[in-house]
Amino acid sequence: MTFAIIPLMSVAIEQPYHYRRHPLVEPDWTRLPGWRDVTTAQWEDVQWQRSHCVKNIRQLREVMGDLLTDEFYADLDKDQAERATMSILVPPQMLNTMVPATGDAGMPSSGAAYTAAFYADPVRRYMLPVFSDRRSDWPSHPKSSRDSLHEQDMWVAEGLTHRYPTKVLAELLPTCPQYCGHCTRMDLVGNSTAQVTKLKLAGKPADRYGAMIDYLRATPTVRDVVVSGGDVANMPWKNLEAFVDQLLTIDNVRDIRLATKALMGLPQHWLSPEVVEGVGRVAATARARGVHLAIHTHVNNAQSVTPLVAKAARAMMDAGIFNVRNQGVLMRGVNDTPEQLLDLCFALQDEAAITPYYFYMCDMIPFSEHWRLSLAEAQRLQHSIMGYLPGFATPRIVCDVPFVGKRWVNQNDAYDRELGISYWRKNYRTSIEAADADALSREYVYYDPIYTLPEAGQQWWRSAVDQDATHAASMEAALASRSVAALQATR
Ligand code: SF4
Repeated sequence: MTFAIIPLMSVAIEQPYHYRRHPLVEPDWTRLPGWRDVTTAQWEDVQWQRSHCVKNIRQLREVMGDLLTDEFYADLDKDQAERATMSILVPPQMLNTMVPATGDAGMPSSGAAYTAAFYADPVRRYMLPVFSDRRSDWPSHPKSSRDSLHEQDMWVAEGLTHRYPTKVLAELLPTCPQYCGHCTRMDLVGNSTAQVTKLKLAGKPADRYGAMIDYLRATPTVRDVVVSGGDVANMPWKNLEAFVDQLLTIDNVRDIRLATKALMGLPQHWLSPEVVEGVGRVAATARARGVHLAIHTHVNNAQSVTPLVAKAARAMMDAGIFNVRNQGVLMRGVNDTPEQLLDLCFALQDEAAITPYYFYMCDMIPFSEHWRLSLAEAQRLQHSIMGYLPGFATPRIVCDVPFVGKRWVNQNDAYDRELGISYWRKNYRTSIEAADADALSREYVYYDPIYTLPEAGQQWWRSAVDQDATHAASMEAALASRSVAALQATR
């Protein structure tokens, strides 16, 4: 008896998301009038990139020429004067990824059509925010604040936040090679703006780093150090290497993560020979001591993942870095669809050896309402992206709940959808709650953008804000009447 072998046919099943590989492309920077004569050698030189960052509107005009209309520059100017919490700082590498396909059929090359494409661009939306992007009804949530995560409240040495039981955040410096409009550390990071006078670190860097190391030596329950800022790419390499070397002498430190958006924003830094060689030295020491030395970067849209970014990530892996992971920020107009999130994750995972790890909900800093999504929207996005990526590379969307920390978006205890208030609990004490008997039973809150609420909820907030402004009765009292206990009582 013989059997015929019938070859299995590939069956095309229609899926909500259609996976396909996209080769990475470095957009042609010579399409931009100000960089028409820039050579590849210049482009790949970190000093050229740093010295040609766009820091103001005049410099943006010099690069973009007549591609943008005056309306855009006026809009940007108004934003810097009346809304911006971060000053302008965009490396050429990042500016070049905005409206990257100019020159293709159908892509406008100047004037109003190009300006419209620039307005709509996801990278532009968070790196060069303009006044008309922001909400006019609720530009800020009434509960928004500088240092919305209260990191400074939890400083155990200046710049060292001890929030979780086994891990700390070391803010070594307050600057970055790029300034993101939505920066959660807008209180400290970057130059002062018309709206925000930045906090200044008081201690000398060497003294602050010494106090951090002393704290870690004296605190054996801490095993994980996020070395951040700002962005460690703005620290002279020899100083960063010296700090990491010190960390590597502390027996209890088992994980070290270097936080640098510049791996994407200024990959030329991480490709420079001094840095690659230095990373090789510290990575070898880390490996010899069984410590995981990783890099955490911050990429928000697939447009930003270019061949140079992939080359930098691979150079770090080749130098001995344990893993390169991405922590993006979920923002409306930037990455708020399942397609945008999955396209980004596949570009990172398939083409750049960067593991998708987290997407944070945008924090409740002032003037961030237009970027923020509601918890319900974040939960829907988490559902939509499950099952496509490998489990180890499926990012969790997390809400950084003030006084709690990162919670997966489905971990909320209760959710008042009318007022857009989610309630959360936690399972550990932060460093400021050692004597707080209620820390683990208390409810902690996070707020949805008000304009996403049903009309009854929006009306409630309008009255609460009016009442708070004109009467002694506080918004807190009104909010208490909508506590999780009150919610549960009505179920
Ligand atoms: S790179 Fe990070 S720290 Fe720097 S401005 Fe952007 S979000 Fe803030």
